[in-house]
Amino acid sequence: MNIYAVYSCKHMVMPFSVLSEYLEKMEGTTKRLDLTAHLVDLFKVTPSDVVQSVVYLLQGKVRPDYEGIETGVAEKLVMRAIAKSSGHPLSVIESEYVQSGDLGLTASRILGNKIQTTFMTDEITVERVYDTLYRIAHITGSSSQDMKMKYVSSLLNDATPDEARFILKILLGTMRLGVAENTVMDGLAEAYTSDRANRAALENAYNVSCDLGRVARTVAQQGLEGLKSFDVQIFRPVRPMLAERIRSESDAVSKMADGVAEYKLDGERTQIHIDGDKVEIFSRRLERITHHYPDIASTIPSLVRSTKAILEAETVAVNKETGELLPFQYLMHRRRKHGIEQAVSKYPVLVHFFDILYEDGRSCLNVAYGERRHLLESMIRQQDMARIIPSLPITDEVALADFMESSISAGGEGLMLKSLTSPYRAGSRGSQWLKLKREYKDGIGDSLDLIVIGAFYGKGRRTGVYGTLLLGVYDEDRDQFASVCKVGTGFTDKDLDTLYQRLSDKIIPHRDIQVNSGMNADVWFVPDLVIEVVCSEITVSPIHTAAYGIVRKDAGLALRFPKFTGRVRDDKSPMNASTSQEVVALYLGQKKTV
Ligand code: ATP
Repeated sequence: MNIYAVYSCKHMVMPFSVLSEYLEKMEGTTKRLDLTAHLVDLFKVTPSDVVQSVVYLLQGKVRPDYEGIETGVAEKLVMRAIAKSSGHPLSVIESEYVQSGDLGLTASRILGNKIQTTFMTDEITVERVYDTLYRIAHITGSSSQDMKMKYVSSLLNDATPDEARFILKILLGTMRLGVAENTVMDGLAEAYTSDRANRAALENAYNVSCDLGRVARTVAQQGLEGLKSFDVQIFRPVRPMLAERIRSESDAVSKMADGVAEYKLDGERTQIHIDGDKVEIFSRRLERITHHYPDIASTIPSLVRSTKAILEAETVAVNKETGELLPFQYLMHRRRKHGIEQAVSKYPVLVHFFDILYEDGRSCLNVAYGERRHLLESMIRQQDMARIIPSLPITDEVALADFMESSISAGGEGLMLKSLTSPYRAGSRGSQWLKLKREYKDGIGDSLDLIVIGAFYGKGRRTGVYGTLLLGVYDEDRDQFASVCKVGTGFTDKDLDTLYQRLSDKIIPHRDIQVNSGMNADVWFVPDLVIEVVCSEITVSPIHTAAYGIVRKDAGLALRFPKFTGRVRDDKSPMNASTSQEVVALYLGQKKTV
């Protein structure tokens, strides 16, 4: 019998060594099935009241993203903590770090070779690690750095070298196991309901709560029944419904005969939660961005005829003098810590509402879109900054083409097409929402949002910056980032400088474990930054690994003539980037056109 099974039945505490043993196994695994199997075993030996913390720690977090709680611990502070716990001078830690390139590894080597030994050590439990990280995240004030350093050092004093390695990886966010949300949900479903097919129930709960830790604790303690209590709640973001792309008005008419078209405006997706005067705004990535839009928070409640509501809108920058809508890039001025008042007055916005997810105590997710739109229209006073996005019933191609033109002259990117009978499918990209963008029509090609996974140094005019970036798509099934092209065109000199700077803190010594690429880049990055690229065609590729083996055995798909559009998609996390499934659909779509 597994000894951990005995321990887990008898005790409600979990030694950190158990978790670190599984983390070590997962570190050595790249296959998703094996990773899931390790996760299942780990969950089976995790006490049900500890699983919430374990799930956060696996993701390198202490709370769900939308709470915005971060430990705020930098490498320098960790080096000081290692020095304090080991008795070695800081210079020794620094030179070891230069050699290993990994502070977790540095700590485990140095602590294995301590000068001073602590005679009394307390056992490290998962709870203790979690509580310490939670406290660290909440320390503020002038001496906060010293306090944080002491907390880290207290953990390192009692940790074995292996435990220290993982504690620091979690703390610094450098633990790249390749277990994204989908894999964790597979593991939870199998461990607690004995059937991976039940993942859908977990996913529904996650879609409306955005809190995987809470989902894990609920399924561990109450099984599938407990998940039924998850519903939309004010001040907890809902995962957004997304659209599939189409290429022409005729596709729109044939695929969405009973639907409506709306302007697809070019701003930032904002989910606005209102409860009386209190407002919280969440981004496309489900991060709290209320501080970017104090004007929305103070004005919108008085323009909504309901005291409690969750609304979705595209927030667009507007020219104060002419009233013209401005491109998405202008909203960048709102992403700042200081001087937000000036940015608000210099770059005003209009809030174009397009959906309602909750109203006065009632979730609207299962209400058909036609009814949601009526409700929305009856609720919003269209004055000051509030608007309802223009819409038109879909009748024929000519009317749609006119509507497309008027969207583009209003500053839009194209059209959204929506089924009137569809519920709001949180977290899913399906055929109930379609998007028709201008660039498909103008023959510029398809635009994709790709993750920067590596780079090649530039030559000539590009010496000192990257000449070419290696880009990938997200493969949802394999939970990996697979390479899909190298891009070297479309960059201005300023873009090259900015990207070089922005990528500097993402450099890692080896290819990231979640990256699948047959290429040898000069530099590898943590997959994080997402940029927009257009391309003329998708081709079968012997080199790139996107959708590998799907359309042809032993080959992947690649973008032909990719070009950077100038747009960095800060509103997208790497998991929100274009997927290999989308690339396959584009490839098959273009074959049909031919
Ligand atoms: P994109 O790269 O096209 O912005 P996306 O991945 O963010 O796409 P999609 O579902 O593919 O999301 O496209 C819908 C996006 O378009 C929304 O996320 C939203 O920001 C924006 N948008 C603009 N107008 C509308 C509208 N009328 N209805 C829904 N979304 C709209």
